[in-house]
Amino acid sequence: MAKIAHLRCTNCGETYDFDINLKLCKKCGSGLSVELNYSDKFEYLDSQIGLWKFASILPEVKEIFRISLGEGNTVLHRSKRIENELGIKELFLKDETVEPTGSYLDRSSALFMSFALMYGIKRIITYSTGNLGASLSAYSSKSGISLQAYVKQGIDLGKLYQMIAYGANVSVVEAFKELKSKEGAVVVTEYDPLVNEAKKTIMSEVFHQLNFRLPDYVIVPMGEGGLAYATYKALNELKFFLKNIKNPKTRIIGVQPEGCAPIVKAYFRSSSAVEPEITPKTRIFDLNIADPKFGNAALRVIKETEGIAVSVNEEEILDAISFLAEKEGLLAEPAASLTIAALKKLIEHKEIKKESTVVCFITGSGLKDPRILKELALRKSNLGTLIEELSGGKTLSSTKVKILKILSEKDAYGYQIWRELKEKYELNIRIPTVYQHLLDLINDGYVKKSETITTSGRKRIYYKLTDRGKALI
Ligand SMILES: [Zn+2]
Repeated sequence: MAKIAHLRCTNCGETYDFDINLKLCKKCGSGLSVELNYSDKFEYLDSQIGLWKFASILPEVKEIFRISLGEGNTVLHRSKRIENELGIKELFLKDETVEPTGSYLDRSSALFMSFALMYGIKRIITYSTGNLGASLSAYSSKSGISLQAYVKQGIDLGKLYQMIAYGANVSVVEAFKELKSKEGAVVVTEYDPLVNEAKKTIMSEVFHQLNFRLPDYVIVPMGEGGLAYATYKALNELKFFLKNIKNPKTRIIGVQPEGCAPIVKAYFRSSSAVEPEITPKTRIFDLNIADPKFGNAALRVIKETEGIAVSVNEEEILDAISFLAEKEGLLAEPAASLTIAALKKLIEHKEIKKESTVVCFITGSGLKDPRILKELALRKSNLGTLIEELSGGKTLSSTKVKILKILSEKDAYGYQIWRELKEKYELNIRIPTVYQHLLDLINDGYVKKSETITTSGRKRIYYKLTDRGKALI
């Protein structure tokens, strides 16, 4: 294992003695990197479980304190169908959806919780946008250390369910305050130096799985920017240990959602300093990070590797979820399918050469986000009414469903709908009742007024289905 030398600021370079309570640089507030004195050569230890196969490049933890739920060692899929579709030479998907709690952060929880055990910590406090809290909850069960998780409203439901099921104590807060560690309790967040350090093992693993070669591009999602930095660190370690590495140049591509893309904006400003996003607005909750702690570091490593920073919009992200699921049988959460959305965009814009080898990190499972799954199902299937009912939504009466069916064939006015209900469905109701149903359907967002046409001096208001109505029917 590697002994910790010190913590180094990823922005200003200031160094500090290692302290599990020190999370950010005292000078500039940026994320810290755990710098190591590598004693051994880099070896992949098959005899060890989970993350600990990479013990030779991880901060030292005595074996009796090492915790694992079998994280890491995830599949690297060759994606032939997407290669053909996009016309790219080689595409690999690093499938972190199969981690014990469905997220790449299980690697981080394994390392942090093992340190916590080694330091005799009894209680962990976290504030999390979702995945880290869910992951730490599972590892706190395994280690017997209690966990207090603070989450914000809007958290993905699946992640909240996970935390509760694993037995964490969960509280909902309006905003995350910079919590301080208390006696016997330690705070852990996504930008924690140990949490970030573990993320580098994804790239190290990819290198082994590609038979000791490196891809031309690696595409990673960016929230705090830590994964981009950790990937760069892994690439440097590989070059340090393996002098004759083939194709040493791997470009790092970092992706953010359009509604919250402070690192991408700095990249396009050609600035070396990331400015906080003033009004972040994205439903990709895990990437809604206005002031990324590894932002400047991520920007620097993208530039240094001649990579690219790119943002994608929500439509592109939803399309990418479907694309990945339909082409590869891999169901990713929105924050993870971002990398596929970026790949498509960059190939279309000819920013990635087609004769390249590309690796996309798929960082988390789609099963964690029932709301997005429902939205996709409504867009893609004709089982809308059943889905609404099963998911506890509004159940529409059979008359309303019939009105929607009539409107799915053509736009129609009130009397016409009344007549069709009578003739087609043998339904005898009064005309005012039809208008009441139409009003309800408008209020629920399934129907809207389309146009008013005057025929023989009589005004007729036509009704049509909204996109929501079309999806439902
Ligand atoms: Zn600093």
